[in-house]
Amino acid sequence: MGRGGKVGLGLGGGIVVLIGALLGINPDMLSSLLGDTGSQPAIEQSSGAGLASCQTGQDANERLDCRILGTANSLNSFWPGYLKEYGVGYSVPKTVIFTGSVSTACGQATSAVGPFYCPGDNKAYFDPDFFAQLETDFGSSGGPLAQEYVVAHEFGHHVQNLTGTIGKAQQGSKGEQSLAVRTELQADCYAGIWMRYASSQPAPGSSQPFLKALTQKDLNDALSAASSVGDDRIQQAATGRTNPESWSHGSSAQRQKWLYTGYQTADLAACDTFAAPKV
Ligand SMILES: [Zn+2]
Repeated sequence: MGRGGKVGLGLGGGIVVLIGALLGINPDMLSSLLGDTGSQPAIEQSSGAGLASCQTGQDANERLDCRILGTANSLNSFWPGYLKEYGVGYSVPKTVIFTGSVSTACGQATSAVGPFYCPGDNKAYFDPDFFAQLETDFGSSGGPLAQEYVVAHEFGHHVQNLTGTIGKAQQGSKGEQSLAVRTELQADCYAGIWMRYASSQPAPGSSQPFLKALTQKDLNDALSAASSVGDDRIQQAATGRTNPESWSHGSSAQRQKWLYTGYQTADLAACDTFAAPKV
């Protein structure tokens, strides 16, 4: 794969079930939601209501597109300063909100593949209908943190594109300890780093964090969301058994472990899943 390759990096499984994680975006946080992401617009929208009407944390709690937008802006405000300390420059990826299907450098995609990041065009793709489908078809409560975790995971792949580890996703075979799984777990770990920041540091242009402070229950919910997209959970639901040799994203336990590692340490080096003897 690599740059310009045909394969995007999704969340996992093809069937994604997110279990309820109720965590609100701070409703008192005004104005900073739209963010300042530089000269070029960081968000593209091919359909739907205008994102310009996303103004408050309350909007983000009520509307999926606003929640994706707010989360993307929080991620774009966090990663540059954080990565600078590690000598890594940050470029803002484009966040594409689409409906139905979309043409990308990784090929044509529909919302059925779930959210994904395409290294070939540096864009993260999200279909709000897909999130809605999770609630209606898969029984997810549609909790905000579950969706924010999804956005943060795809941005984790963008960070990997910047640091150069993303190409490992297509090297070697699949399986529990494969490079593919380690790539996905690292993206989960990066999502955890952002969760730590977004719930504890003031958002740009605001005196308050983007997310309300996480309680142990919130954290458990986030871990539950990560767990629900584990390969073993998805395989078990689909076929009644699990086959670790075919895993591409990691088990529920692995995904929980690495999301938590990122959240707990907030340390990029601690997310080096490639150096870990066992993930
Ligand atoms: Zn992924």
